[in-house]
Amino acid sequence: MSVALVLVEHEGGQIKDATLATVTAAAQLGEVHALVVGQGVGAVGEAAARIAGVARVHVADDAAYAHNLAENVAPVAAALMRDHCDYFVAPATTTGKNIAPRVAALLDVMQVSDILSVESADTFTRPIYAGNAIATVKSSDAKKVLTVRGTAFEKAAREGGAGAVEPVSGEGDKGISSFVGAELSKSERPELTSAKVIVSGGRAFGSNEQFHGLLDPLADKLKAGVGASRAAVDAGYAPNDYQVGQTGKIVAPEVYIAIGISGAIQHLAGMKDSKTIVAINKDEDAPIFQVADVGLVGDLFKIVPELTEKL
Ligand code: FAD
Repeated sequence: MSVALVLVEHEGGQIKDATLATVTAAAQLGEVHALVVGQGVGAVGEAAARIAGVARVHVADDAAYAHNLAENVAPVAAALMRDHCDYFVAPATTTGKNIAPRVAALLDVMQVSDILSVESADTFTRPIYAGNAIATVKSSDAKKVLTVRGTAFEKAAREGGAGAVEPVSGEGDKGISSFVGAELSKSERPELTSAKVIVSGGRAFGSNEQFHGLLDPLADKLKAGVGASRAAVDAGYAPNDYQVGQTGKIVAPEVYIAIGISGAIQHLAGMKDSKTIVAINKDEDAPIFQVADVGLVGDLFKIVPELTEKL
């Protein structure tokens, strides 16, 4: 039976949701093994073993892996791939996209990125042209490296599995990169990729103060995550990790509220799979209304405060 090795993405001792969707994809390829890399990650390894469908967890616990530097993590995955596994399957997140190509390079195989479905053992679908077309791709590599679009697969249950946990030793610090520092934005709000409701703002907000002054209270009322268009991020209204779209995050919440966002295809590529899309825009011809389930034509500076007050 084929073995699919899933990269477990974790932060602060918690396994991220994108990993759960990746497990579901991997389960369609063979026996699921999980790879947990970090320092002091024993509890993460045990949590990974409890994920439904995980048969075995390989834990590489070493100071060299404390900051998840891709240059140090990739050789651990590549060694397991050479010896035991047929597929390396990583979430198509910033972390997964940093590590998977390095694993592919070490194995001298191509990577199939951002898969939407597993058609067979060697055939997958993936979006191209910002999601406007879906390509079916077949890989003839003996070992396959895949990244998985989290919104395209159901999340595996966090509990229910009883995988065996075993330590693996990697090559430690490769000495080609070092951790300098991290500036993390702390927020009480749900993370964009796991939020059930997202309110997202565009260029129309006009300034950082107006963006946060209007959107944050609305998000608080809805217990929503806050997203932004690239134009809003580029203009400095919102931090980089708020960006939704082709070159930002791919999200599919229950409700996505796009405010003062025109609906360029690069933005739609990141949110069009949302269950219900609400658009607020003063231009009734804005393309966002073509994908919106509920549309409100009007001035956001009037509508947003009114909406926040009424909620
Ligand atoms: P605009 O297009 O300027 O739209 C502003 C909207 O606000 C308009 O529809 C206007 O009618 C409305 N408006 C103005 N004032 C008001 C008001 N008072 N009340 C209500 N509505 C108002 N974009 C992304 O978002 N994410 C990406 O990941 C991304 N990746 C890209 C990758 C590439 C390679 C390229 C080329 C572009 C990418 N873009 C991305 C940019 C994208 O093409 C658009 O430029 C961007 O999404 C526009 O942002 P916007 O809708 O906020 O701004």
